[in-house]
Amino acid sequence: MVKILVIEDEKHVRANLVELLLAEGYEAFDAENGRFGVEKAKQELPDLIICDVMMPELDGYGVLTTLRNDATTDTIPFLFLTARASKADFRQGMSLGAEDYLTKPFTRIEVLDAIRTQLSKQQTRKQKYQAEIKEEMDRLLLFDNLTGLPNSRQMYSRFRDAVANLIDLDLLSLPVLVLSIERLNEINSSLGQEASDTIVRTVVERLNDLLDQNQTLARVDNDKFAVLFSSLPQPKDFMEEFSTIIAETVFKPCQLKDQEVYINTNIGFAFYPEDGDDFDIVLRRAEEALLEARKLGANRSQFYSPFIHNKSIESLKLEASMHRALERNEFEVYFQPQINLKTGKIVGAEALIRWLHPEEGIISPAKFIPIAEDTGLIIPLGDYIFRVSCLKAKEWCDKYFSDFRIAVNISARQFSDPLLSQKIRDTLEESSLNPHNLELELTESILVKDFSTVSRILSELKMLGIELAIDDFGTGYSSLSYLRQLPFDILKIDRSFVIHLSQDLEAQSIAKSIIQLGHNLGLKIVAEGVENESEARFLSQQNCDEMQGYLFSRPVPAADFEVLLQSEKTLVLSE
Ligand code: C2E
Ligand code: CA
Ligand code: CA
Repeated sequence: MVKILVIEDEKHVRANLVELLLAEGYEAFDAENGRFGVEKAKQELPDLIICDVMMPELDGYGVLTTLRNDATTDTIPFLFLTARASKADFRQGMSLGAEDYLTKPFTRIEVLDAIRTQLSKQQTRKQKYQAEIKEEMDRLLLFDNLTGLPNSRQMYSRFRDAVANLIDLDLLSLPVLVLSIERLNEINSSLGQEASDTIVRTVVERLNDLLDQNQTLARVDNDKFAVLFSSLPQPKDFMEEFSTIIAETVFKPCQLKDQEVYINTNIGFAFYPEDGDDFDIVLRRAEEALLEARKLGANRSQFYSPFIHNKSIESLKLEASMHRALERNEFEVYFQPQINLKTGKIVGAEALIRWLHPEEGIISPAKFIPIAEDTGLIIPLGDYIFRVSCLKAKEWCDKYFSDFRIAVNISARQFSDPLLSQKIRDTLEESSLNPHNLELELTESILVKDFSTVSRILSELKMLGIELAIDDFGTGYSSLSYLRQLPFDILKIDRSFVIHLSQDLEAQSIAKSIIQLGHNLGLKIVAEGVENESEARFLSQQNCDEMQGYLFSRPVPAADFEVLLQSEKTLVLSE
């Protein structure tokens, strides 16, 4: 229902207006002075405000100025109501951004007409705005800002097109080349951002001169480019020659303001489908080949080969000791609070696993989860994490508040476990945790399965009453509208978008678009990795629903988490 707020100090005018609005089927609220009016507006976020000019405490101009300076209320259509209809008043109201002016006494028709006109204008503005942010977000998410080149996301969709265009898979071989600008980060820290930007642009120019339309160039990382080729009859021979030409083209001096630097590069290749059955795997293989090339010196190239698999001794060791770690109880579930940005209160926790290795100390899941996935150990480990999380959550629901929400990460390999939903049902029963208190965090990597299977499994989980979150949003390849076809409730903005919020306008713009678009799609938005107040403030101003991060608390063992719950620790943001 359309909500209208009436701010007016004269009692009978206020009552008449409210009555009139209710009779017309609007939802109407009122406030008897400017200060209350501002409070109500922020609380209720009405679709339109009718406000008297002359009022004690805070006059209508003051109300309008305050609301226009707040991101949550700055676009609400605003109608002034006044007995004074001098031209000067009219102009002042309009210059502050009021939409229209009604002079007292007014007729019913006048009021309703003004309201209808403003609501319909607002509707048009909203639609236009949404189309704009969608376009802006696509641009930000698909193209690199500095060079205007496609990024890895966009590259992925070109790759899919290329595969779809080639029907005979037997003859298909798509080479992917990855090229680095060596020591770019060092150049950045010694010669500055401008110098490194110039180098990046120069490399792009040189590559663009060399490539034709059948080859797509993308910037896949700060110092890395990828080239996607169309299918070739003799890919290896061609690529060998081609890489020599590329290295020669790039390895030339580059003129900076007051000095000349040589740009060194290295190149790695891999082929679809021989080296991997999806783009991100082939890209990763090409990057592994690049590392190999780098070992040979500057301006070298390498093909991916399974023998160069860059498994470090460290990870081989981990793999061996992980098998015993589960039996020895070396894994512990930590909990990181999730905070409602409106109230500052803890609403739940994300369960994050830690390996307390007897010799190595705490080992990060970023290190061992991929190995656990490779070896299949993620299945028993995941079962353990899930069980502990549900039991703890049930305890906290009973002791602290009944809508406490526990978020558990489910990796792609776990998602493929045919027993997954059965296990979830069993554990919920065992722990007597209400499914509504459980959230599963899933990344886009679950989409390696075909869409309809994924969709079916998610719907099954959804039917149990579990909340589903898209984790690490913005780092994968899928667009929000695509993900929206799946029954997600929550979107987690990846830390990589939060990290630069304090300084970087582009990061702000992406975060803002994700929040708005997510909200339009009916998703709750959670930002992760919030480390300082200015990030939290920005997110809160953009109406992001929840956050987690070091600012409030690191992930902590269950006992410490309970201390946070007991103390009712609250996030307070200074204005
Ligand atoms: P994730 O799901 O994206 O988890 C968020 C990561 O950000 C966690 O890293 C968390 O400790 C870290 N983090 C939270 N706040 C901040 C902050 O303010 N600043 C910084 N710099 N980092 C912050 P963690 O615990 O190392 O976990 C890394 C990844 O390992 C997780 O990423 C998740 O993908 C995976 N993982 C962790 N626990 C589990 C688990 O129980 N099961 C599965 N399948 N994967 C897990
Ligand atoms: Ca997560
Ligand atoms: Ca993340």
